[in-house]
Amino acid sequence: MDKFLQAAIDEAKQGLEEGGIPIGSVLVIDGEIVARGHNQRVQKGSSVLHAEMDCLENAGRLTAADYKRATLYSTLSPCDMCSGTVLLYGIPKVVVGENRTFKGPEEYVRSRGVELTLVDDQECYQLMQDFIAAKPELWNEDIGE
Ligand SMILES: [Zn+2]
Repeated sequence: MDKFLQAAIDEAKQGLEEGGIPIGSVLVIDGEIVARGHNQRVQKGSSVLHAEMDCLENAGRLTAADYKRATLYSTLSPCDMCSGTVLLYGIPKVVVGENRTFKGPEEYVRSRGVELTLVDDQECYQLMQDFIAAKPELWNEDIGE
């Protein structure tokens, strides 16, 4: 197991413990985790704090040179909003835990030159399946359905 994906899974589990949606994210630069985050829509009543957005917000202001050396990890395939942020800041690499529960615009992100790696991790998938079975309305709200 990739230790960075494991750190994102730990974030997802923390979100679940808080009563939130179990999706986690970390930002890695030069082999170090510089920020962590998890989906905070329920916890903070937020419209935009998906795991990736929470992680990037926690990273604070970074320079373009920093983003260009970054890899964004997420336990779930990034949605339109989060993928758009990756493109905006020129983050060159994204590692995705799974995309069976939800698949964002991966082909488009790749077409824009991002190296997107799919791990298809069972634990990431199972966290979401258990959550959706328990709280389907919260999940549908998260993806705008
Ligand atoms: Zn998102």
